[in-house]
Amino acid sequence: MLESLRRIVHEVDNAPDLEQALAIIVRRVKEAVGADVCSVYLNDYDNRRHILQATDGLRQAAVGRVRIEMGRGLVGLVSERAEPLNLDDAAAHPRYLCITDTGEQRFHGFLGAPIIQNRKVLGVLVLRQLEKRHYQEEEVTFVVTLASQLAGAITYARINGELARLQDEGIPQRFLPGLPAAPGIGIGTAVVVYPPADLDAIPDRRIENPEVEEESFRNAVQDVAEDLDRMALRTQSNLSAEDMALFDAWRLMLESDTLIDGTLTRIRAGNWAPGALRATIAEHARVFDAMEDAYLRERGTDVRDLGRCILTRLQNLTAAPIQYPPKTILVGEEISAMQIADVPRERFVGMVSTGGSGSSHVAILARGMGVPAAMGVADLPVGRVEGRDMVVDGYRGRVYVAPGPAVRAEYQRMAEDDRAMTHELQSLRHLPAETTDGYVLPLYLNTGLVSESRPLGIEESAGVGLYRTELPFIVRDSFPSEAAQMSNYRRVLELFAPRPVTIRTLDIGGDKPLPYFPMHEANPFLGWRGIRITLDHPEIFLTQIRAILRAAIGLDNLQLLFPMISTVGEIDESLTLVQRAHDELLEEGYQVKMPPIGAMIEVPAAVYQSEAIARRVDFLSVGTNDLTQYLLAVDRNNPHVAKLFDDLHPAVLRALMQVLVGARVHGREVSICGEMAGDPMASILLLGMGVNSLSMGASSLLRVKRVIRSISRGRAREVLKAALQCEDAASVRRLLFNTLDTLGLAGLVRPGR
Ligand code: PEP
Ligand code: MG
Repeated sequence: MLESLRRIVHEVDNAPDLEQALAIIVRRVKEAVGADVCSVYLNDYDNRRHILQATDGLRQAAVGRVRIEMGRGLVGLVSERAEPLNLDDAAAHPRYLCITDTGEQRFHGFLGAPIIQNRKVLGVLVLRQLEKRHYQEEEVTFVVTLASQLAGAITYARINGELARLQDEGIPQRFLPGLPAAPGIGIGTAVVVYPPADLDAIPDRRIENPEVEEESFRNAVQDVAEDLDRMALRTQSNLSAEDMALFDAWRLMLESDTLIDGTLTRIRAGNWAPGALRATIAEHARVFDAMEDAYLRERGTDVRDLGRCILTRLQNLTAAPIQYPPKTILVGEEISAMQIADVPRERFVGMVSTGGSGSSHVAILARGMGVPAAMGVADLPVGRVEGRDMVVDGYRGRVYVAPGPAVRAEYQRMAEDDRAMTHELQSLRHLPAETTDGYVLPLYLNTGLVSESRPLGIEESAGVGLYRTELPFIVRDSFPSEAAQMSNYRRVLELFAPRPVTIRTLDIGGDKPLPYFPMHEANPFLGWRGIRITLDHPEIFLTQIRAILRAAIGLDNLQLLFPMISTVGEIDESLTLVQRAHDELLEEGYQVKMPPIGAMIEVPAAVYQSEAIARRVDFLSVGTNDLTQYLLAVDRNNPHVAKLFDDLHPAVLRALMQVLVGARVHGREVSICGEMAGDPMASILLLGMGVNSLSMGASSLLRVKRVIRSISRGRAREVLKAALQCEDAASVRRLLFNTLDTLGLAGLVRPGR
């Protein structure tokens, strides 16, 4: 059964359009179960009816003609209850509806299974039997399982077929759902990109002369390195320093021992350069593919991209330059960061990928460049959209192919509002984040890798509220040395001095294992991560603390932050180690100072112990991303439960209130540094709660400032009071949206949910 299930799903997946997909389904399912009839009814919600769309066993003339009003008949019952129905004699059921056009009256046995996608019933799969037959349990589970797997394929085939028939009129106005990846509206022309060279198709080939192969490989690597530099230069003005660091990461990968030595060893063993490259890349990418963490898994894509670029050079293929239309929407199944970098910024209005999610590195790049993007738009038939008009709604993660005039006009209006808003926000750059009643709520920047150039948001932020230190650890082949770390930290401390910079100690592990530090865990989010790892490895922790303390000498703008605290013991131990590093450095003659030290509150346990934690440290910083994940038991990287991840959930709001109560007992300041801090709507609540500062990505600074400057603290407190009465996140969101609307700021956000 399992095998035939796989075969059917595979065949349906490859069907060119809906008609053929359904023809395969009815034929194959009928055979597999030994039924006399198999039919598919699809739901037409606009006209509230079920339409017989395919059958094997009933009269073909009835296909498309038989339309059952929604809520009627057994098909209506299965659809309405979204449950299978197994009857030995259909006619005996009170809801039975006799339809003579199909010749159905001769049949007795009935099995109906709903076809469901994302909680929506798309249609009903029906099996009929001449005799009375009660389908066996395993037959029912087979049909139910199959129906659940067919939903995606049916959607895909339907859209694929519609696009194939697409004329300029009669265009489907449905959107294709995906995941929001970079906010904004993009209206333009689709340019489909494919991986440039098929590395996997390269065979092994014996060679006589390894030196020649070696040389061509080295030349190819050199060429790719130059390409990267060129792209980095071209993209520089559009990207923050953090995003620019991706180019450094590629250079590091390109020049890594794993890639170079691995390929050379294989060449010297007698394989030609392309074959040696293929094997090395495959081995290297597999390591990343096996990682739990989405960010690190994406590195596997980087490795493959690099492999393809080298192969292109090896094969001396100079890809014909793509002609980008004035409003380009880049579309692909697996878009590479290099393909993004190739699009001239002034022509780049949107990006759509059938794979990936909001945490993919290409999504990070798109956000950094301010290009609206949707990821994971799985139903988009990439092969059919080249040159088509397209709208990308990066707020909701939706895509419209060949939108009709109404959809187009609506999105044009939204895009216009966005442009006006961005323009208006620029005027706030040098103004304080001050409420209408004169209270200043400092806004800090979240940043990570900082290279020489100046990161975005540097002028308009009060300093760095969260400097994530894990990226330099991820892009290397081994732990960075004290000196290498120090120069990184020094750069950011200098850049912002005298404004404070909060450096967080390494928050790696569990779901973010380092490539050179293997760990396998059944529940990585509940496992070895953050402070738990660094306390188990004091040598890693001490090296980092030494580097951080030394970096701050003479600047005195450092604050230190510990991640993933779940017990007070972890703070005590961490403080002891910091003191030790400090004392050792003094003994060694470095004029280091003890910085203010804070603890992150991102585990529910820490919420309830915020008072005891606050007593031990100088400040608290709430990581709402993890706090939401742990409070709501929703994996922050899992697209299947992404809808449940909501930092406006009343439980999150109550947790924040509790943290503030604990902190106040000891007069400690509380900062919020998760994504919630950068949400203009949530900032009203955080202001009302009395948090001391917010820390966010550069792109949120002006939006949040706009809100703070439009509201009084008193009003924010009233809104908070009302929000705390709400019983679900949707009500909180509605309340906040209405508040922004009355302030004339609804344009700052789009109600995405
Ligand atoms: C958080 O969890 O909210 C946070 C700021 O840390 P990170 O997103 O790096 O886990
Ligand atoms: Mg966190």
